Amino acid sequence: MNKRIFLASPHMCGKEEEYVKEAFESNWVAPLGHNVNSFEKEICEYTKAKSACALVSGTSAIHLALKNLGVGQGDFVFASTLTFAATVNPIIYQGAIPVFIDSEYESWNMCPIALEKAFEDAKLNNQLPKAVIVVHLYGQSADMEKIKNICDRYNTPIIEDAAESLGTIYKGIQTGTIGEIGIYSFNGNKIITTSGGGMMVSNNTKYTEKALFWATQSRENEKYYEHKELGFNYRMSNIVAGIGRGQLTVLDERISKKKYIYETYKNSFQDIDDIEMMPICSYNEPNYWLSCMTIKENSNISAIDINICLEKENIESRPIWKPMHLQPFFEEYKFFTNKESGSVSEDLFKRGICLPSDTKMTNNDLKRIINTIKKIFK
Ligand SMILES: *Cc1c(COP(=O)(O)O)cnc(C)c1O
Repeated sequence: MNKRIFLASPHMCGKEEEYVKEAFESNWVAPLGHNVNSFEKEICEYTKAKSACALVSGTSAIHLALKNLGVGQGDFVFASTLTFAATVNPIIYQGAIPVFIDSEYESWNMCPIALEKAFEDAKLNNQLPKAVIVVHLYGQSADMEKIKNICDRYNTPIIEDAAESLGTIYKGIQTGTIGEIGIYSFNGNKIITTSGGGMMVSNNTKYTEKALFWATQSRENEKYYEHKELGFNYRMSNIVAGIGRGQLTVLDERISKKKYIYETYKNSFQDIDDIEMMPICSYNEPNYWLSCMTIKENSNISAIDINICLEKENIESRPIWKPMHLQPFFEEYKFFTNKESGSVSEDLFKRGICLPSDTKMTNNDLKRIINTIKKIFK
C-alpha cells in the first residue's frame, strides 16, 4: 500500500521544541508564562492587530467574543451557514439564537444580499442581531467591504471567524482584524498548529483584556479568591504557546506551499471540463488553507465518487462543510438565501470536495493525487 496522503496534518519546523524546552527549563509548565505573552505579541506583530488573548481553542475565542459583545439569553446572532459547527455552537452556549446566512458563488462565503434580507426581516420582527459572525472559508476572505457596510448601517458588530484564514490579506489588511473582534485557531489541521489552541484579536484592547479575565476564572484583583462574575478555564498553556511561536516563524512558507498546491491542481485540471476549482476573489490574497473544487452539475461523476476513488489509493479528502441550516441540531433556526430554490451552500456541499493540501506533500505525492483524479474522468 502506498503511504497515506493527508488532507492537512501538523508540519513542524524544528524551532517549536526550542521554545517548549525553554518552558521546561524555566519550569513554566502552566497556563501562563513567557511563551504565552510572546506568542500574543508575535501574533499582533504579524497581523497588525492591536491586542491579542491566547486561549485553549478557536471555539473558546468565539465564545468569549460573543460574551464581549453582550450576546446573552434570547439574543439573535447572524452567522455564515457554510462552516464548521464550532462557529455557531458558542451562540447556543450563550443561550442565544442563531440565524443562518447563505453563501455566494463568488467567494463561497457569506452572501451580502442574503445578509441584507436577514436584516430587513429582523427589523420587521424586532429581532435585530447583537452580532454577525463572518467566516473566511478555506482561507479565502469574505467580501468584507460589502458585509461591513450593511452591518454598519444596522450598527451591528462583526466577529470574524478567521480560524481557517490566518495570514489571508483582504485589501491590504489581515483577516481577523477587520471586524470588531477576530479569532484564529491552531487546531491540528489548521495552517499552523499548536496541537490545539486559539487566539482572540482586536483593535479594541478592552475586549482582549476582558477575555483574559473571563478565561482565568474571573478572579478579581484581591489577595483571596474573589469572584463577581462567571468564569471559564480557557487560557492557553505555556507549552502550547511555545509550539505556536515556532510555527509562526514558518507561516509565510506554509502559505507559499499551500498556494503552490492550489495552482498545481488548477493547472492540472484545466482540461477537465467537469472540474471547477474554488474561485479566488481578486480582492484578497488567500492563505490557500485547503484546495477545494466542485464537479459540474451535469457530470456523471460525483464528488463522493472522487472521495471513494482517492480513499482506495490511501489518499484523504473530504466533502465541503455540510451547511449548518441542514444540520438536525440547528434545523429549527431561520435561514436566508438569495437563491430561487435550494441554497448556494447546499449546492456547494453536494458538488464540492476538499483535496489533500498537506504542506509536507512532495511533487510525487501531488502527481499521485492528480493522476488518480484524471483517471476517474477518462
Ligand atoms: C477549526 C475551526 C474552528 C474552531 O477552532 P478550534 O480551535 O478547533 O476550536 C472554528 N471555525 C472554523 C471555521 C474552523 O475551521
